[in-house]
Amino acid sequence: MIQEDILVLKEISYRENDKILHALGRNMGKIQVISKGSKKSNSSLRNSSQLFAYSKSSLVPSKDMYILAAGELIDNFYNLKNNIDAYYHGCYILELISYVAQENLHNVKIFDMTVSLLSHLCSLKNDFDKLTGAYELKLAAMLGYRPNFQYCINCNSLIKTEGKFSIAEGGVFCSNCVNYGNGINVTYNEILTMESILKSKFDSLGSIEVNKNILNIIRKFLFYHIGKDNFTSLKLIKEGKI
Ligand SMILES: [Zn+2]
Repeated sequence: MIQEDILVLKEISYRENDKILHALGRNMGKIQVISKGSKKSNSSLRNSSQLFAYSKSSLVPSKDMYILAAGELIDNFYNLKNNIDAYYHGCYILELISYVAQENLHNVKIFDMTVSLLSHLCSLKNDFDKLTGAYELKLAAMLGYRPNFQYCINCNSLIKTEGKFSIAEGGVFCSNCVNYGNGINVTYNEILTMESILKSKFDSLGSIEVNKNILNIIRKFLFYHIGKDNFTSLKLIKEGKI
């Protein structure tokens, strides 16, 4: 029997009363879990077997999956259901981490950050894009793609003015070197903002002003490095179905 904190990323109906869960384990990374009888209203596994459920679980290995033997709910981020905008942003985070985690990722920091992000989404009334953008930039950094905002990627001098951010190289061309490569124009203030997002906790983002150009750069940068940009939940957000 394995004790593991898990976050349910996807629930799939299976047989009459069971579910197969795609879950992120804090230490184990992405796993598949069979939750037997959890569709029954009186099942003790019911709460731990729903989308967004974050629980202390007892798992029994079974072939290439696990059987959920017991689950004690820590949080189900219930408030996401009270705000459709927050809910879809939460769905996007699950879809994103599910994709990233399929490469055998088991990174406790990323797990904790994801749970923290969901918790912050629950308490916000707006600014979901800013919070999500901060998550994306921090996630890129944790995956090993921390951008360099301090020194020019061409001449290595300290960035002191506007420049161009190179998605592929993960850094800034200074104002003297903007012709040496492709990138997206960034003001000095935007460069400083991205650096401070990397250093700030979700709690402290309130005082940081984040514009569309920054959010666009962060998302392009993350998607370029993880090699995927077509997330279903993002389409729903963009199409204004929320
Ligand atoms: Zn330069």
